[in-house]
Amino acid sequence: MILKIVKYPEPILSQPGEPVTEFNAELRRLAADMFETMYASQGVGLAAPQVGVSKRLTVIDLSMGKEPKDKLVLANPEIIFSQGKVYEEEGCLSFPEIREKVVRHAKVRVRAQDEYGKWFEMDGEDLLSRCMQHEIDHLDGMLFIFRMSGLKRDLNLRKIRKMQREGTW
Ligand SMILES: [Zn+2]
Repeated sequence: MILKIVKYPEPILSQPGEPVTEFNAELRRLAADMFETMYASQGVGLAAPQVGVSKRLTVIDLSMGKEPKDKLVLANPEIIFSQGKVYEEEGCLSFPEIREKVVRHAKVRVRAQDEYGKWFEMDGEDLLSRCMQHEIDHLDGMLFIFRMSGLKRDLNLRKIRKMQREGTW
């Protein structure tokens, strides 16, 4: 089922998600719906708060549905190691049409639970590292616009307000 993606400034996007405690069929249904929703919007990552569910759950698939082995469900993820800095462009499904350069760690190691509650660790670099950091930020109520430089953030906030006035946001 394709879920509705909430856009900035919906308050749920700025709230930290609740830890996932029940690894049941309902949670796996939510993860499956999040993949479907993400593919429909041509995204590579989606966090539960973006579909109106305040939980520490995110799905990632850099192949956009082409490689089943690339499907990644991260419940209660945390970054346990990070290295380096990179400054690259990124976007967010809750900020349609906004793309901007943001500083991220070059490499991260993430500890998380899968959709059955099993803990695992995973290393990411390049786009995967960026995507994991962006999605984990969502679970902390942190949005990429607040990782931009002040000048870029103001420009983009102005752009959003203009689109809101025109009814295109
Ligand atoms: Zn996002």
